[in-house]
Amino acid sequence: MFSINNIIRQNIKTLKPYSSARDEFQGEASVYLDANENAFGSPLEQQYNRYPDPMQYAVKKRLMEIKGLPVRNIFLGNGSDEAIDILFRSFCEPGIDNVILVPPTYGMYEVSANINDVTIKRVPLTPEYQLNLEGIAEAIDEHTKMIFVCSPNNPTGNSINRADIETLLANFNGLVVVDEAYINFSRQKTFIQELTEYANLVVLQTLSKAWGLAGLRLGMAFASEEIIEVMNRVKPPYNINEATQQLVLEALQNVEQVNDWIKQTLTERDNLVLGLKELDFVLDIYPSDANFILAKTTDAKGIYNHLVERGIIVRDRSKVELCEGCLRITVGTPLENSILLEAVKTFR
Ligand SMILES: *Cc1c(COP(=O)(O)O)cnc(C)c1O
Repeated sequence: MFSINNIIRQNIKTLKPYSSARDEFQGEASVYLDANENAFGSPLEQQYNRYPDPMQYAVKKRLMEIKGLPVRNIFLGNGSDEAIDILFRSFCEPGIDNVILVPPTYGMYEVSANINDVTIKRVPLTPEYQLNLEGIAEAIDEHTKMIFVCSPNNPTGNSINRADIETLLANFNGLVVVDEAYINFSRQKTFIQELTEYANLVVLQTLSKAWGLAGLRLGMAFASEEIIEVMNRVKPPYNINEATQQLVLEALQNVEQVNDWIKQTLTERDNLVLGLKELDFVLDIYPSDANFILAKTTDAKGIYNHLVERGIIVRDRSKVELCEGCLRITVGTPLENSILLEAVKTFR
């Protein structure tokens, strides 16, 4: 049986979190002399002299409406990269615990594990880029705290079979972290609705991709109240700055604009696939549920350099295991995509 008490780090169990001025007095007052801020103001038109809300209540309340999930099940991070790091710091004992990664996948899980001195057990995806459930079951030991599953997966673009993720959730007594950075582009449903079913599920999403806010840095983790409470204790008190909180709140009013961009991206993705498939040095294009495609080519490095010479940058993933010869290409605007196609056609 999963129990948060079995996976939380000992020092975090007993951690007394930093208590900020904004934690100790909540409510409205006319004179704030409790946080050593500059009461005169900021040397800017917009005023940022006050510390931001450490729990980002206004943003979470809006997210509650969009995601259909109570505020107590939402954690906000300085990008989902911060949420990933906080998960390691909350649940993995450095030098003792391990996590399971399923390459090829997003690189930050490995970096975060290394920074936190947490052992990585690698169980590569199958040639179809799906989970090797038997391999994962064999790799799990008493010190395995988390399994990271990215779906739709970066860099392969496909979704991971839902039933396989549910098998992990039902049988693993640590956390299953489902990274849904690209969920807005996917035909698959989010795992958010499974939170009531599985106490060991953490869903990661971000405003960096479909929402077009990579520069503001806002990532989300959705999980049980118990997990979120631990993450909130471990996070830096003011991890989401005031400018980000205000601008995100404004951006979250424009759901329709974002949905329109998603539709355009999917149309453009289809066009890009059709255009690339015509080229004899493109061997295969993998099915994508994301805003990028993975193309297997005869000469990834050559095509990459050819494009760089023309001012076009794609991602060379050919050194990644199971991605030999592959380029990862983000879907751009119609103009950018036609520039890419014209340029790539002149290769050889
Ligand atoms: C881009 C990406 C993220 C986003 O990270 P942020 O820190 O929120 O910008 C997370 N996971 C995956 C798989 C990604 O590709």
